[in-house]
Amino acid sequence: GDIADGLTRGAERLQSTVSEAFFEPVIRLGVTGLSRAGKTVFITSLVANLVNRGRMPQLVAAADGAIRTAYLQPQPDDTVPRFDYETHLAALTGPAPHWPESTRAISELRLSLRVQPSGLLSGFQGPRTVHLDIVDYPGEWLLDLGLLEKSYAQWSEDTLKRIADRPAAAAYLRQAEEARETKEWEEPQAKALARGFTDYLAAARVAGFSDLTPGRFLLPGEMEGSPALTFAPLPPEENAPRKGLWREMERRYEAYKRQVVKPFFRDHFARIDRQVVLVDALEAINSGPRAVEDLRRTLTDILSAFRPGRNAFLSQIFLGKRVEKILFAATKADHLHHRQHPRLTGIMEALVADAKSRADFAGAETAAMAVASLRATTEDSVEHDGRTLDVVRGALLEGGKRAAFHPGELPEDPARLLVPAREGAERWLDGDYAAMRFAPQPITLKPGEGPPHIRLDRAAQFLIGDRL
Ligand code: GDP
Repeated sequence: GDIADGLTRGAERLQSTVSEAFFEPVIRLGVTGLSRAGKTVFITSLVANLVNRGRMPQLVAAADGAIRTAYLQPQPDDTVPRFDYETHLAALTGPAPHWPESTRAISELRLSLRVQPSGLLSGFQGPRTVHLDIVDYPGEWLLDLGLLEKSYAQWSEDTLKRIADRPAAAAYLRQAEEARETKEWEEPQAKALARGFTDYLAAARVAGFSDLTPGRFLLPGEMEGSPALTFAPLPPEENAPRKGLWREMERRYEAYKRQVVKPFFRDHFARIDRQVVLVDALEAINSGPRAVEDLRRTLTDILSAFRPGRNAFLSQIFLGKRVEKILFAATKADHLHHRQHPRLTGIMEALVADAKSRADFAGAETAAMAVASLRATTEDSVEHDGRTLDVVRGALLEGGKRAAFHPGELPEDPARLLVPAREGAERWLDGDYAAMRFAPQPITLKPGEGPPHIRLDRAAQFLIGDRL
């Protein structure tokens, strides 16, 4: 009785002391966004600013000195490529600064923070270690979630309908129409169709569209050329012959879902605690109303992955766990004078409002912000035609010429931007924006300095501040 109880209690106490000393909390931070949204630059600059104690006044644990050190450690997952932090940082901060290679697939980086709590209890607590496992992955992969609920016939129909009036799709649509005649499956034709569809996706991306699924077509990684990536949408066929082209496309589409899409969600996505979704809203706005409409729809699709309750497969792999915080960050805010930043934040909020209103992301806390991971400009105002214009100054990527630019205006009321294109939406950012492709500014970082940014510290505070 008593002795056994005492022993149990003693053992429990010992156990909790041991786990306090050895248990080191891990935060898995997912970083995603569509291609060229700014994932690589975001992670590189965030890590550099934490490791080198850059200017992070809004990250409380950095400002009050609680973060003693931050250092890189081997990551826990041995088969996931490591995020190539050193190479990317060297690109951005070296003697001839240039933008790093963008995200092509999943990668991971472990940053460990040694934290000494300040305040009342600080005298009693020793420093703790918190591991931040940053997982970088293409947003296009999240879009593939939509495929799980669709048969090949449905997916083909939806896709062909959606792209029917896009000039970039004309060649592929012809190709798919011609394939109607084919009864026999032959690999060269399957390959040509997949090639044609991939070419369309690449052209659609250039035209500013963002619904670029299947996600692995533009970012194939090591599966390039495999049957699971060699399919394309075809018009419906009644009684398609069993060994014909249509059936084989259908079979490959199912293989893609089973062997590419599901493993990613199960092995990586379901383990994320906190998430940042980066969005190049400015690029879409500059491309015009259709691209904005498309971006909003695509974001809604991306965000459905964060409402696991609505999807049987997701509920099953999440097992009641959830993503605790989601940050929606409009990137490259250094293209705008800070006077326009609140508008950009408002637009970001409006872009995700649709998805949010349907379900509040299963209880996750959300926020929207405008950030620049690596600030490539400085602000100024100039006199022009008798009025004062807010401008930003930077060096152009092509030619390196330094100049002042006025990108144009964002609407004060985001609703004006989100009017559907066919109902006469206006054009915004039609000043210099299209010409504003900046090179990173040459910087000499002294010890204790990080790369210049806008609001990365606010982003970090929202994402991990409560755990430091
Ligand atoms: P990813 O495909 O999401 O990994 O995108 P990257 O991080 O590679 O960024 C794509 C491009 O966006 C870069 O090559 C830069 O041209 C631009 N970019 C990203 N972040 C910033 C930023 O903070 N400021 C500016 N001016 N450009 C940026």
